[in-house]
Amino acid sequence: MAFKTDIEIARDAKKKPIQEIGDTLGIPAEHLLPYGHDKAKVSQSFIDSVQDRADGKLILVTAINPTPAGEGKTTTTVGLGDGLNAIGKKAAICIREASLGPNFGMKGGAAGGGHAQVVPMEDMNLHFTGDFHAITSAHSLLSAMIDNHIYWGNEQEIDLRRVSWRRVVDMNDRALRQITTSLGGVANGFPRETGFDITVASEVMAILCLAKNLKDLEQRLGDMIVAYRRDRSPVYCRDIKAEGAMTVLLKDAMQPNLVQTLENNPAFVHGGPFANIAHGCNSVIATTTALKLADYVVTEAGFGADLGAEKFFDIKCRKAGLTPAAVVLVATVRAMKMNGGVAKADLGAENVEAVKAGCANLGRHIENLKGFGVPVVVGINHFAGDTEAEIEAVKAFVAEQGSEAILCKHWADGSAGMTEMATRIAEIADGGSAEFGTLYPDEMGLAEKIETIATRIYRADSAVIDGKIRAQLKEWEDQGYGNLPICMAKTQYSFSTDPAQRGAPTGFTIPVREVRLSAGAGFIVAICGEIMTMPGLPRQPAAETIRLNDEGLIEGLF
Ligand code: ADP
Ligand code: MG
Repeated sequence: MAFKTDIEIARDAKKKPIQEIGDTLGIPAEHLLPYGHDKAKVSQSFIDSVQDRADGKLILVTAINPTPAGEGKTTTTVGLGDGLNAIGKKAAICIREASLGPNFGMKGGAAGGGHAQVVPMEDMNLHFTGDFHAITSAHSLLSAMIDNHIYWGNEQEIDLRRVSWRRVVDMNDRALRQITTSLGGVANGFPRETGFDITVASEVMAILCLAKNLKDLEQRLGDMIVAYRRDRSPVYCRDIKAEGAMTVLLKDAMQPNLVQTLENNPAFVHGGPFANIAHGCNSVIATTTALKLADYVVTEAGFGADLGAEKFFDIKCRKAGLTPAAVVLVATVRAMKMNGGVAKADLGAENVEAVKAGCANLGRHIENLKGFGVPVVVGINHFAGDTEAEIEAVKAFVAEQGSEAILCKHWADGSAGMTEMATRIAEIADGGSAEFGTLYPDEMGLAEKIETIATRIYRADSAVIDGKIRAQLKEWEDQGYGNLPICMAKTQYSFSTDPAQRGAPTGFTIPVREVRLSAGAGFIVAICGEIMTMPGLPRQPAAETIRLNDEGLIEGLF
């Protein structure tokens, strides 16, 4: 059977003018700042005007540890939003914007898939409303101002060897990972080593996604540490006097973007921080605004629940005062099989035993999520090749855990494939049984926070934190950063730091290789394993086959 591709389905969408979408949420047309006919930003003054309203119910979509088989968190987020609207609920979705660079490497978009997509998907995956360009510009301004400060006499006594602020570009370009700047003589400044990260890895991105408003944004930008002096004292962005101009560059980017799903339901697409060295969720301002305008808000966290949901709860919800009402944990039969040891090439054949074996991964995520006090429903994202017996095996396993699993066919059928899940999730959210609590209190020591995540969420025997790293954490505690949450950066493919260890591994430790202070974003990054902040392109990048056809339509992107 031949399926239509995502882009073919998206092209057939009967989009409504964005003002009509805004109208469903009660946003007056004059408060929508249109970017073309099908995208708009919601004005800051409108956002300010709804702050006294009650909040809707927040529903998180997360997943088991990802496998190359694909899980479909975004697809499920979009499908559930459509499903809730189809059963007569007022629902909105909140997802991240796409990073442009990776689109030219591997094929694949970030707007959902099949009959559960956000449109216009080409725009969303390319320049969209220019937010990432604004972030790149704000970041670059600070980079330029730091070197300019050094050039004109270095009043702050920045140690040239200890400039931690790097440069960014929204492209996968491994050639820029490590570079030497200011070559070519006296007029070009003082040569030093630095490098580029991809824009989504910028602390500016994390800040844009956590800031409550423009004032908070400016404050946090000022708080960023950009370098150290010879005595190791930090130099802040504020010392370089860049935060005011950076805020000016970011003022439009701070306003959330409104678009629509294939079924003409409202979707906020805003911000897109890395899910490893940052927290991997859409912006706080989009989520809090959506909660004021809709009765149900469905949102997604990046990676598997061990990283994505933990950071959603412990960083985003903690900092923004959000209280989630329910969680949908996405699982697929294919991913269960891979977790159960089946190779990607063999996924087509029925293998109930492998499904059962792989369910251990699912079970651990269910337990972890329950630990946060939020009710969990497993959403089995149906793939065409799944067999009845395999689906039943997943359902039976989940029932044994005292939870429920619901088959979701939104990819094939849109909202019609999501009725059962939407009905159940609305019921749970309305029931108010969630008693959300974070994993650790603010007051816990930084090393103990890392230990707690490693042992309670990953089920490691311990976190291995050597003396040098402990001393660094202690120093930050003494400087008043001890109350910050931890942002774990490790592989998304396993509970452990070894991507090959699928399922529910035991008997391992979590070695902490490095810790970084993101003082503006307000978290401490614990790096466990190799983390790439500037991806490269594959041998045959998707870009080689991306082109405009004779009708002016984009081909090869999805
Ligand atoms: P995630 O958000 O977990 O990374 P996405 O929702 O973006 O995953 O989906 C990844 C890819 O898998 C997309 O290209 C999507 O079209 C595809 N996909 C998702 N669900 C299904 C399904 N049920 N059947 C076939 N393909 C699917
Ligand atoms: Mg996604």
